[in-house]
Amino acid sequence: MIELKELRKSYKTGDFVQKALDGVSLNFRDNEFVAVLGPSGSGKTTLLNVLGGLDHADTGELVINGVSTKDYKSADWDTYRNHHIGFIFQSYNLIPHQSVLSNVELALTLSGIPRAERKERATRALERVGLGEHVDKRPNQLSGGQMQRVAIARALVNDPDIVLADEPTGALDTETGLQVMDLLSEIASDRLVIMVTHNPELAYTYANRIVKLTDGRVSDDSNPFEIGAPQSATQAAGAPIVGGVNPAPTDATPVQATDVPSAVVGTQIVGGVNPAPTDATPVQAAAAAPSKGRKKHASMSFLTALALSFNNLMTKKGRTFLTAFAGSIGIIGIAAILALSNGVNNYIAKVEEDTLSSTPLSITKSSFDITSIMTQAGGYSRSSTEQQAAVDANVIPESTVMSDILTDVKNNDLVSLKKFLDSEESDVDKLVNAITYNYGIEPQIFKQDTSNGVKRLNPGTLKGIVSNGINSMSMFSSFGTTNAFQEMLDDQELLDKQYEVVDGRWPEKYDECVLVLSDNGRISDYTLYALGVLDPDKLEEMLKAAIQSEEIDVPDAHIEFTYEDALNLTFSVVNQCNLYTLSGDGKTWTDRSDDTDYMKEQIAQGTPLKIVGIVKGRDTASSTALSEGIAYRHDLILHLIDEASASPSVIAQEEKPDTDIFTGKTFDELQNND
Ligand code: ADP
Ligand code: MG
Repeated sequence: MIELKELRKSYKTGDFVQKALDGVSLNFRDNEFVAVLGPSGSGKTTLLNVLGGLDHADTGELVINGVSTKDYKSADWDTYRNHHIGFIFQSYNLIPHQSVLSNVELALTLSGIPRAERKERATRALERVGLGEHVDKRPNQLSGGQMQRVAIARALVNDPDIVLADEPTGALDTETGLQVMDLLSEIASDRLVIMVTHNPELAYTYANRIVKLTDGRVSDDSNPFEIGAPQSATQAAGAPIVGGVNPAPTDATPVQATDVPSAVVGTQIVGGVNPAPTDATPVQAAAAAPSKGRKKHASMSFLTALALSFNNLMTKKGRTFLTAFAGSIGIIGIAAILALSNGVNNYIAKVEEDTLSSTPLSITKSSFDITSIMTQAGGYSRSSTEQQAAVDANVIPESTVMSDILTDVKNNDLVSLKKFLDSEESDVDKLVNAITYNYGIEPQIFKQDTSNGVKRLNPGTLKGIVSNGINSMSMFSSFGTTNAFQEMLDDQELLDKQYEVVDGRWPEKYDECVLVLSDNGRISDYTLYALGVLDPDKLEEMLKAAIQSEEIDVPDAHIEFTYEDALNLTFSVVNQCNLYTLSGDGKTWTDRSDDTDYMKEQIAQGTPLKIVGIVKGRDTASSTALSEGIAYRHDLILHLIDEASASPSVIAQEEKPDTDIFTGKTFDELQNND
């Protein structure tokens, strides 16, 4: 049971004070489907945010199962949000580059649940919303209605007592909107669902209580709840609630009838279906009994991670902006976005560290406003709808997705940031696990044995065809961003926590690396191709054939690749600066990377990169930082930088900072030629 007492909240912008909530008093039953209606700006979102603990009122009180939240500490709010509340937003807030399954699992990562269980529960939640067959897809391969169902599965996976939905159908067409509403009312069969909408028709059809907000005040309530009245009485009179589909029992603590009798009364009445005893853990638990089962503290604070892996963005040749764009955004979504408006939380638990290592907070040279991107990604951004209304009826309306995105790009001054972080003033070491500086250097890694020709393994040649040959929606798009080589975290302690060494040892020097197996201890044929164990050219041929719908000659790829084979594998790293030699004119430099004989020579002289160990994620780790393939040390990059500073091509460029050594023209000239 939730009580709101005289909530007030205003926003100050400059001298102007906007009252968002102006004395809202409302009580909610443990089990009802409430629709909040009201014009834009009437305070609906603010009300939902306060209810969900994402925001706090200036005055007034929020009472959860008889316990005031006045004395809630930030850890109590974390528990409340992570274990008792599920959020659903209009713009889905899904992470584009992660699978549907990972998107849902993420909600559990934040609650500190072990990996195997996470996967199982996420799968179950997705099956419940009818997406069992789409778990491996990425959000951009789904329709709007399906994306919203993923968001609903994400909201449900923690089995929350309360689901808050802010205009969940706002971006959907009528029919898919109805499907989502069906799903929501099914969810409402055994918990409290509060939905904000400005569609009265939907509200009256589905909800069993309508609350109207006007200028931050409750102007109407179709089914008010007086504290002390039995929760069931009014419910029977309301709109039909679809008979209960109960989620399979979870590890949740059974309802404690003695603690909160009202919760039990409420849940037993609905549709005559007895919910599984696990469904209705009273919210009160958060504050009252932190030691029992699911009532434990959330081990993830709300400030999580903003995984903006823009490493690739606009730096790599040969990839279209969009492919780079689709592949390089990763966002921890809601949690992080909302955390930014909630301030930094001091409370950092183990799981948070783990999560941050797999989805680190990245600060990149170019960045942009996430929310706008998320809205664009939804395809039905509000701004484009408005634009459509404004134009001449004869003109096909344009939605300016690309220009909106591009004008949103901002540049960060990373040099100053690094100076600050390096200075004593920042004291940043206390706040972070590890800082890694990425210099945008991707080591050129080759198969050491050149008897069958020059095989470059990193950056993989596969990427080229993938981004040129197929669009980013296709089934192969995941290859576009997969790379078998990666730099590993500079934090051995964290790696030890997450990984066990299956054979050999961790690398200690710049020219050593490890082979990372998949979590179940396997290695995929894709990785074997990418490492040059199987011939990467063969895979490229097959992919090209597949793209052109030709018959594919799939080799019987079963080979035996032993631990010993792996530990005998050495790659060759050729420094980029050595790809160039002085031309005959004695002035300009020529790229020799297409010259096989020259490259064979360079590969023979390159830095050998030797696999010294094989590692695999621990079953007990709640997250793992590395992906399958090869992980090399940051030292390797430093070594390459060091080596480059002494190379003839770099020295030549440094001597003539204004002239491009490849063309002999000044940079000014080159720019004006464009
Ligand atoms: P609704 O969801 O009903 O459209 P909101 O709760 O978002 O309304 O907003 C209520 C009022 O508070 C509006 O006038 C809005 O402009 C104002 N408001 C909301 N959030 C902020 C904010 N972060 N800063 C300033 N004003 C805000
Ligand atoms: Mg709103």
